[in-house]
Amino acid sequence: MKKALIIGGGFAGCSAAHLLTLQGNWAITLVESAPFLGGGCKTLYWGGHPYTFGPRHFLTQNESVFAYLNQYCPMRRCADHVFQTYIEQDQAFYNYPIHKDDIALMPDRDEIRRQLANRPATIAPSNFEDFWLQSVGQNLYEKYICTYNKKMWMTDDNTKIDTFNWSPKGVTIKEGAREAWDTAISSFPLANNGYDDYFSIATKETTVLLNTKIEQYDLPNKTVVLNGETKTFDIIINTLSPDTVLNYAYGELPFIGRDFIKIVLPVEEVLPKNIYFLYYPNKEVFTRIVEYKKFFRNDTAPTTLLGLEIPSNKGRLYPLPLKKYRDLSDRYFADLPDGVFSIGRAGSYRYEVDIDDCLEQAMDIAAKLR
Ligand SMILES: Cc1cc2nc3c(=O)[nH]c(=O)nc-3n(C[C@H](O)[C@H](O)[C@H](O)COP(=O)(O)OP(=O)(O)OC[C@H]3O[C@@H](n4cnc5c(N)ncnc54)[C@H](O)[C@@H]3O)c2cc1C
Repeated sequence: MKKALIIGGGFAGCSAAHLLTLQGNWAITLVESAPFLGGGCKTLYWGGHPYTFGPRHFLTQNESVFAYLNQYCPMRRCADHVFQTYIEQDQAFYNYPIHKDDIALMPDRDEIRRQLANRPATIAPSNFEDFWLQSVGQNLYEKYICTYNKKMWMTDDNTKIDTFNWSPKGVTIKEGAREAWDTAISSFPLANNGYDDYFSIATKETTVLLNTKIEQYDLPNKTVVLNGETKTFDIIINTLSPDTVLNYAYGELPFIGRDFIKIVLPVEEVLPKNIYFLYYPNKEVFTRIVEYKKFFRNDTAPTTLLGLEIPSNKGRLYPLPLKKYRDLSDRYFADLPDGVFSIGRAGSYRYEVDIDDCLEQAMDIAAKLR
């Protein structure tokens, strides 16, 4: 048996463990600092309601990624889910991404149409603000994008943010179906405890060390000190930020975190049926409100739970989409030898890495090692 070490037991680490297990020739050790697997996708409880830290809604354009997850974690399709955003300037809720039909409802529609008609034929943005101004014009940028992203990245200047494959997956103005994900699979686990059973199945044959941290990393030599012992592996799959596992050799990579506020309300459901969560791109301190019953359909309690996400410095959750930090992360990745992989959101240092991308990355590694 060849020896594999997996660092971190979130979606990326658990799916990597599972896909190697299916190959049958790996002795796998997974090290997780928390007392549980799953990272932010672990199901927690408040007021008797199951919830995750943020929506953790499974979205993918890749049928084989969905088929894999659905095999081990039966999923419920939720194609009816409509994303909405509250625009204070208009005191109205609109679809999100920006929907072409909503423009007709806006008080400043004539000006918006004029700005759209004057868009450049080819978009050549130098930064995030530029990308949106060129794509949708000043008014729509200010309503939907400007303040939201300043909140999101805790910055006072959107020109400092690079243009990147910005969620939701590059759509600027949507036409046609109002459902945000009519071109992708939108789903959530059927089980009462969300993704948790998958994390157990995925790591059933893995040696899982919870409440454990690696004491010393020597990734270029595939060696670590673990529980006082020096151990060398045939491969290592890292899911932590690359600066951590390469001993901050080139300096620290910054992240944005989140404060998470839970509110129980004395009604069965508070948001309309097909609205699972709402974006707030105005001066509110929070970015998003999630109603967890919309995901956890077996929760039939007489009360409901909302989760509010507030950007903060707590936690290494969102890698910054700034070129200088991406370049810094690439310097770290260049130091990884063959047989050492770095995947997942922090492990790739890419904000765009969602749950489906973690699975895809784990599948790619498994295919390489087959
Ligand atoms: C608030 C929020 C909401 C989101 N909502 C969605 C969504 O709706 N849909 C979607 O597709 N994606 C969503 N995402 C992104 C998606 O959930 C993540 O990309 C994905 O879960 C990341 O998985 P991961 O394994 O890379 O990281 P994580 O889940 O963060 O796992 C890393 C693991 O490493 C452990 N760890 C940390 N430090 C150490 C250490 N020193 N030693 C050992 N272990 C350590 C952590 O405890 C954790 O379990 C959301 C992200 C956030 C932050």
